[in-house]
Amino acid sequence: MLKYTNTDIVFQEIPDEVTLAVNLSGCPCHCPGCHSKYLWGNEGEPLTDEALDHLLASQPSGVSCVALMGGDAEPAEVDGIAARLKERHPKLKTAWYSGRSILAKEVNLDHLDYVKLGPYLSHLGPLKSPKTNQRLYLVQHRRDTEPGNANTLHDLTPHFWKKKN
Ligand code: SF4
Repeated sequence: MLKYTNTDIVFQEIPDEVTLAVNLSGCPCHCPGCHSKYLWGNEGEPLTDEALDHLLASQPSGVSCVALMGGDAEPAEVDGIAARLKERHPKLKTAWYSGRSILAKEVNLDHLDYVKLGPYLSHLGPLKSPKTNQRLYLVQHRRDTEPGNANTLHDLTPHFWKKKN
């Protein structure tokens, strides 16, 4: 069972979305230079569907996306949480921040609108660093394109490198 330690409303992590970021504990990635070591332990409360709905109901209106931050120890559970969230809240976008370089095979992109891949390497920096190894992708679903096409990933990472005036 995945557990979460805390949540935030964030505006930068997913472009053009108001995102409820749910920080999941039990991170197995152990990136060098990790900025969130408090997420390595098996801490927090179980992230049940009911808990997630309660978190959403307690936010101000306007949340357009839920981002699962971590959960690499149990990707099948990440997939299940995202799938059921889509069923209950079809207008909400879903995102997964994974610390792995390759998408876990247990995760079905039909259930996600955004996926971030890549460990945090301090000498390369986060998404906003042009040297970063991390990538944020928009999932372009096959249902939105030609019938028979596969889901594809559109790299949004350069969005983070644009200068803000
Ligand atoms: S994915 Fe890497 S940076 Fe993120 S919490 Fe886990 S070890 Fe830390």
